[in-house]
Amino acid sequence: CSVEDSISFLVWAVGGAMIIGGADIEMGLLITFSGYVGQMKGPLDFMSRMVRWYTNCMNSAQRMFEIIDAVPEVKEVPDPVRPETLRGEIELKNVTFGYESHKPILKDISFHVKAGEVFGIVGRSGAGKSTLVNLISRLYDTQEGEVLVDGINVKQYGFRELRRNVAMVSQETYIFMGTVAENIAYARPEASREEIIRAAVQANAHDFICKTPDGYNTYVGEHGYNLSGGERQRIAIARAILNNPRLLILDEATSALDTESEFLIQQALNRLIKGRTTFAIAHRLSTLRGADRLVVIDKHSIAEIGTHNELLEKKGIYYNLVTAQLKMAEGK
Ligand code: ADP
Repeated sequence: CSVEDSISFLVWAVGGAMIIGGADIEMGLLITFSGYVGQMKGPLDFMSRMVRWYTNCMNSAQRMFEIIDAVPEVKEVPDPVRPETLRGEIELKNVTFGYESHKPILKDISFHVKAGEVFGIVGRSGAGKSTLVNLISRLYDTQEGEVLVDGINVKQYGFRELRRNVAMVSQETYIFMGTVAENIAYARPEASREEIIRAAVQANAHDFICKTPDGYNTYVGEHGYNLSGGERQRIAIARAILNNPRLLILDEATSALDTESEFLIQQALNRLIKGRTTFAIAHRLSTLRGADRLVVIDKHSIAEIGTHNELLEKKGIYYNLVTAQLKMAEGK
């Protein structure tokens, strides 16, 4: 019930009671009075909207200043290494990390990934797979041990050089308001139209882009043309191809899609990963068949590491996961 409704209710209740009680007012006066009260509705509405705007504005401003004032935990060293190119060799040495220092998510993790290798990361949900890849792109710093890229600690690299060389293709692809072309050229705004189209063709995105109302100039994002999940992922792949990074992180890239989209995405991904060091996280283990090696994370540490066949022969966690998923697929 709004303020205006309460006021007119009050006018009628009090006025009515007064007339019934024999006070010195007439029905006509009450009707006229309540008419004037009704005319106050607009200004009162406006006032209450102003109050709401003000409080919303203050809340947003407070959050904005919290973000501006936040001191980043990960800082660039004063004189960082700025290599032109990276080879993409990754080594983790006795890495321990937890979002809260007394509660480690990963404990004493060590492995070495050669440049160009496809490395699958397996583990139940919440095991720390995403955390592991976040340490490699230095979104967080390790508490103990070190992460080396081409033999140099990630902490020594300039942010620009490191992040330029890492691309992530995940289920949650960020599409911002702008044209399709701008979305693809997000990391390289200076890219030419030919380069953008070449990347889209490689990513199996060119055909669907041509079918949109204005092709590469179609507006997407909020209030724009609606892209499906599979189309968003192919935009993300085109973005990564154009950016040409040495390190690629694929996070559950091919789940919850129809078979045709999945095929097109898998084909695009196969083109993308060629010649790049790739970390692939997937819950559906069949998508990790192409991985050169796999690591299984369990109880905060490495439980198993090796090729698909080696891990199957071991008859351990990986073997159990694969057989359980096969049984589930057959049972469908
Ligand atoms: P996975 O990718 O294997 O599902 P994650 O690396 O996302 O696992 O998460 C590992 C654990 O860390 C989970 O228990 C999760 O709740 C916790 N976690 C993930 N991100 C954060 C964060 N930003 N802050 C605090 N805890 C987090």
